[in-house]
Order: sequence, then structure tokens, then C-alpha cells
Amino acid sequence: MQRILQPGDIEALDRVSFPRVRLPQPATLFQERAARLAQLAQDSPIADYLRFAARVVQAQHQLALKAPAADAPSEEAVQRAGASGMPLLPASEPLPEGWQQTLRELLALLGADAAVPAPLAPVMAQLAARDDTALNSLARQVLAENVAREDIATAPLLMAALQVVFVQRAAAVGAHQAPYTEPATICPVCGSAPVASVVRIGGNIAGHRYLHCGLCATEWHMVRVKCSHCESTRGVRYQGAEDAQGKIGEVVQAETCTECHTYRKIVSQEKDPYAEPLADDLASLTLDLLMGETEFSRASGNPLLVIEKPLAV
Ligand SMILES: [Zn+2]
Ligand SMILES: [Zn+2]
Repeated sequence: MQRILQPGDIEALDRVSFPRVRLPQPATLFQERAARLAQLAQDSPIADYLRFAARVVQAQHQLALKAPAADAPSEEAVQRAGASGMPLLPASEPLPEGWQQTLRELLALLGADAAVPAPLAPVMAQLAARDDTALNSLARQVLAENVAREDIATAPLLMAALQVVFVQRAAAVGAHQAPYTEPATICPVCGSAPVASVVRIGGNIAGHRYLHCGLCATEWHMVRVKCSHCESTRGVRYQGAEDAQGKIGEVVQAETCTECHTYRKIVSQEKDPYAEPLADDLASLTLDLLMGETEFSRASGNPLLVIEKPLAV
């Protein structure tokens, strides 16, 4: 005889079952991120940069609102990804058709925004003037975090356009369609690295840690005891930066790993319900400066802040 669950059983079940993958919601993602950046700018040594980033994200929001919904992935692609442990719609494959148009629209919105710093105008004009093929090859370099010195100023704008397109694509994926990837530290949808991780609040996701994709904003669960870069459980520790009052920050901490010698930030909504992984990572540059003096190097970058890598010796 089939056992019927009682209300108490259902509640208990609900607490233990939580989504493994959280797909992005384009209608609210960029809006919440822009609001968080503007909020964090209020008391920040890099206020101007955060305000500029907030304008870029606000423009992303406008584009996301009017973008047509993407097609759901084919059943064949879902099966293939599931069987191989590869991401479902890898960013390493040909880029979604017409993404360059999204970039040009983003540049037009920013060009018309009086709050965008004037020195950026020539940078944006130069980017808008490139043809589709040139933009494609530039996108490849940016996605590979291999940006030439002369393109450093344009890279965050290019990433912003790619984010709009990839978020749209990820939103069309069903949570059950996302594969278990190998390694588990890459995005199951697009294969990119997480920009940071976040401990969420609310409902059945409360208290769970998710890695947040820097490109498509998909989130996937990983237990906190594991390093988000090498998955080792041996050497994970946390480090925060002191604020002006000498208080150690708890909203954003660097999760360090003595096995792979990297760090990635972990953002806690339990400490601040408005915390947003990409925005809080960007605003906590002081913590990166602090970490620069330790043995740990940053596991992956922030798409809206491309910095020149020291030349390999
Ligand atoms: Zn992704
Ligand atoms: Zn590690």
C-alpha cells in the first residue's frame, strides 16, 4: 500500500530538498544588481567606479527586458551534456547569433547616459565601430581572460553584452536539464567560472551556498566545506577585511584554500539580505588588495573589472 505523506512529513521533506541549480531571472537580476551597486557606492573608496558599473548594469536591465525569450535547449543537447558531464550550452562554442547587436545597443544606451564618464566616449565609439568578426575574436579573448592591454577598457563592456545574451539563454533552461559537470566548479549551463559564491536566505534555499556564474548568472549548489576551486575539503578558511572602524567584514569574506592556494569571495545574505555576488565582489576590492599580500591568488575574475595580468615569466 502506498504511504500517504502527512503534513509534518511534507514539511520535513521540504527542508531537506532544495534546488541544486537556480537559473537566472532576467527580469530582476540586473535591476537588483544595479541597485546593490548604487547602494555599495554610497560609502566606498571606489564610489565612482561602482556608480559607473551600476549604469552599465542598469543598461543591461533595459536590454534584458526587451530581449525575446531564448529557445530552450534541445533534448539531444540535454542528453549529451548529462551523459558527458559537460556544460549544457558552453560559452566555448560559437557565440549566440546577433550578440554583437546587443553590444551596440548597450553602447548606444550608455552613450546617451549623461552619468557615464565622458572619457569613455571614444572607447565606446571605437568598440561600436568594429565589425561582427572583429567583435567575435575580441569576445573569445575576453572570455578566455586573455585581454590585450589596449582592450582592457573595452572588455567589461563586451562582457556586459555577453552577460545579457547568456543570461537570456540560461533562463530558458529547465533546472532539471542542468548536468552534473566535471569538475563541479564550472557553471553547468555555460561552463564559465563562478565570480563568487553566495549563502542564500529564504525558503528551502536558506543557509545553502551557491556558486554564482560570472557570465550567465546560473547558481549551483556546493557544500561550504569544499573549496569552490579545487573541491578539496582539507584547507578551507575564511578571511575578512577590516572596515574604517576596525570591524572585520562578515558580508563578504575571502574563502581561502591551502590545497590550491587560491581564494574566492563568499557573500552572505544571512549578514545582509541585499548582498549580491557580483556587486559585492566588485565593491570589496579592498579585500582583494589585502589578499594580494598573502599566498593566495584570486581563482577567477570579475567580468565587470578586467585588470591586466602580470606577464608570465
Ligand atoms: Zn554560466
Ligand atoms: Zn582549493
